[in-house]
Amino acid sequence: MSDRDGKIWMDGQMVDWRDAKIHVLSHTLHYGCGAFEGVRAYKTEQGTAIFRLQEHTDRLFNSAKILRMAIPFTKDQVNQAQRDVVRENNLESGYIRPLTWIGDKKLGVSPKGNTIHLMVAAWTWGAYLGEDGMKRGIRVKTSSYTRHHVNITMTQAKAVSNYTNSILANMEVTDEGYDEALLLDTSGFVSEGAGENIFVVKDGVIYTPDLSAGALNGITRNTVFHIAKDLGLEIVQKRITRDEIYIADEAFFTGTAAEVTPIRELDRIQLGAGSRGPITEKIQSAFFDIVNGRNPKYAHWLTLV
Ligand code: PMP
Repeated sequence: MSDRDGKIWMDGQMVDWRDAKIHVLSHTLHYGCGAFEGVRAYKTEQGTAIFRLQEHTDRLFNSAKILRMAIPFTKDQVNQAQRDVVRENNLESGYIRPLTWIGDKKLGVSPKGNTIHLMVAAWTWGAYLGEDGMKRGIRVKTSSYTRHHVNITMTQAKAVSNYTNSILANMEVTDEGYDEALLLDTSGFVSEGAGENIFVVKDGVIYTPDLSAGALNGITRNTVFHIAKDLGLEIVQKRITRDEIYIADEAFFTGTAAEVTPIRELDRIQLGAGSRGPITEKIQSAFFDIVNGRNPKYAHWLTLV
């Protein structure tokens, strides 16, 4: 992925893709304290637009605040960097990855006196859990790994270090042939996927875990709240058990990368009819209308590059 043409924004400069390098003694590489975002740009009739850019930049700054890192750029500069990177790489649509990390001035656990850096890259990225999964639904397994407790690495930060837990869970279940992992919180209640929030549908009502289950406050999750309201559907945030998912009518994952992905099976138990459910399909379709600029109500969520 590193040896290719293109540009990456690094600490305020556009640098050639293959020259966007850091030193091996970078603090974040050793101790895992850093934060990132995952953002998408979509093709719309007006041109390429970044979806909910400001909300992603706000979350990046909040993650950095939680991790006691002072990003040395303004939010406006970070917004502009994301637009510039999409344009410079001639992307019609794609995935944007801003990342803030601690530099190589010194090692030792304390980052005090070290430098804070920021980069933004962007590339083309299709359906994260597969085109087929978007239509038919994916197969999920509950991981043996527990999601972080809310007082460990801080679950409201999209922290680099939180993703070891996601990687372990994802590798565990994909090695067994499943598409994605579901993680439970430290009390055994449903938290989220390795990189997605989860929703279930039962008797026409939509349920999702409240954030005390250690799930990230997903921007797609919030988008689904708006969509459900528009469709006249009720959403309840509550503690959810894994067996509630087994007997749900429908379930789906949400995330910037995963978008709205139906779940057809959990732990080898078929959910509902075992395919994309009707409410999931409505929400998925409304989601793609919004991100592709076909719903004027949400035009303010799209920033043209
Ligand atoms: N949970 C985790 C662990 C994630 O990595 C993501 C992806 N950022 C999400 C949930 C969904 O968040 P969003 O909709 O903001 O992408």
